[in-house]
Amino acid sequence: TLLPSPSRSRLRALVRKSRSVAARARGGDEAAETPTLLRAKKPIVLVLGSGWAAHALIKVIDVERYEVVLVSPRNHFMFTPMLPSTAVGTVEFRSLCEPIRVSNRFVEYVGATCEELDVERKTALCVSSVAYQGGRKPHFQINYDLVVVAVGEQSATFGVPGVAKYGFFIKEISDTIALRKRVQDCFELAALPGTPEADIRRALHFIVVGGGPTGVEFAGTLADFVRVDLRRKYPELMPFVRVTLLQSAQSILTMFDERLQRQALASFEKAGVEVRTGVRVVEVTQDQVVLPSDERLDYGVCVWSTGNASRPLVQAVAAQLPAQAEFSGGRPAATKLAVDPFLRIVGARDALALGDCAMMHGNRLPATAQVAGQQGAYAARMINRMFRLGCGGLTEPFPSRRVARARGLFASVSESVSESMDEGAAREYFRKPFEFLSLGLLAYIGNNQALTQVDPIALRLSGYFAFLVWRSVYITKQVSFRNRVLILFDWVKTRAFGRDLSSF
Ligand code: FAD
Repeated sequence: TLLPSPSRSRLRALVRKSRSVAARARGGDEAAETPTLLRAKKPIVLVLGSGWAAHALIKVIDVERYEVVLVSPRNHFMFTPMLPSTAVGTVEFRSLCEPIRVSNRFVEYVGATCEELDVERKTALCVSSVAYQGGRKPHFQINYDLVVVAVGEQSATFGVPGVAKYGFFIKEISDTIALRKRVQDCFELAALPGTPEADIRRALHFIVVGGGPTGVEFAGTLADFVRVDLRRKYPELMPFVRVTLLQSAQSILTMFDERLQRQALASFEKAGVEVRTGVRVVEVTQDQVVLPSDERLDYGVCVWSTGNASRPLVQAVAAQLPAQAEFSGGRPAATKLAVDPFLRIVGARDALALGDCAMMHGNRLPATAQVAGQQGAYAARMINRMFRLGCGGLTEPFPSRRVARARGLFASVSESVSESMDEGAAREYFRKPFEFLSLGLLAYIGNNQALTQVDPIALRLSGYFAFLVWRSVYITKQVSFRNRVLILFDWVKTRAFGRDLSSF
């Protein structure tokens, strides 16, 4: 069905009540009513996610040629490297975000979570991310011509009991809002008249589990908050405040050069942050973090930052594709989607995967914003170029033999892994496969000190100058002028008036 695609109500016009295949498979009358997004005039590129990869893609993709529909429960892009700063109020939450509808107003944003992706039938079953009064969340289905899976990953708990219930994560804005409130509440608890000393000590013990960049940056910023702002308002509580960083490896920030790791440890020692390496948390209870040999640490706030785990959608897609099993190392469910050097999902037709949820065969890339952003822009250029070759549509017959060979880009690769790695046709038309350009590593370690490491030019910096580099890079890397101004204002405001101590 070809529908006209004018005006702002374009998406609504494309949605029709119909019997969707996926819904019928679930059975029931309600399922039969699942609305379906029908074929538009232009090929539909369905983008799942609104993080680094998806955001970079929608900035570059040619919306004249494609009907771009972006499905994500999060209606904004978020600059994750500065998320730890928001947990203590150095920077405000909204300063890091850009609404997707502003990022590219020609992209149709749909506030939903994709629950099922049928890569064979090219349909995505989605559920609204907001509910009606009473809790009902509408389901609907979107048909696509090309899907780009960029759903990232979720925080890993490694099955440690109690973490999901009592731990605080630093993954979404909602996490840092809750964390900021809890930190402040612990000080209010400790300041209550007549609070026993043991309870004060417990409330003011902040434990950070995980010595990667996020855990370290949070521990450093929390130490700043205590030293600069809380000291003025709660001077009598200062002797009881403890910040402890627990790390299972033998050092922190292991991706950095050893000298820089030592600098970070020395800086933490100076700031009074206790670092314990080589310890693995075995349980988190309501008020204690349990270590091996039944050592128990009382805590007020436990922040869990130990890495990522795959999302259920990614596992479900990988499970549909037998070719993916080749890459999952014998595990029953792949934890990432294996992609070829052109970011095509191995074993699927017309499907790309980008960012943290993708794993490139033979070239394991770090799960970073740098990789995700570069992959998003690469994929968009690749899709744009495909159209300019005159293919007419991603699933239409190709007009000539020469162009038909370009079909290799999105062709099915399920038969064999070697076929999936056949780069010939794609290489001819898209010149080169994705190559990651590392721009270096940065980490804030508190007390206006940072670490900078740029391997290609063997640059290693630490201290205040590295902090200035850190700030300059992050301000220039903001996705809009508005974000740049907001963050600069926040820094000036924090410097002039201190961090806000109100909790909501
Ligand atoms: P994400 O940015 O995680 O985006 C995933 C998107 O998918 C989200 O919008 C989510 O809502 C959406 N989604 C999830 N499930 C579904 C679904 N079922 N259907 C539809 N949409 C869905 N990297 C660096 O390079 N430098 C740093 O300094 C740095 N610091 C970091 C600090 C923190 C606190 C964190 C959490 C990460 C940091 N990273 C950093 C890592 C970086 O943020 C990630 O590598 C990057 O976000 C990955 O981008 P992505 O697009 O793959 O996924």
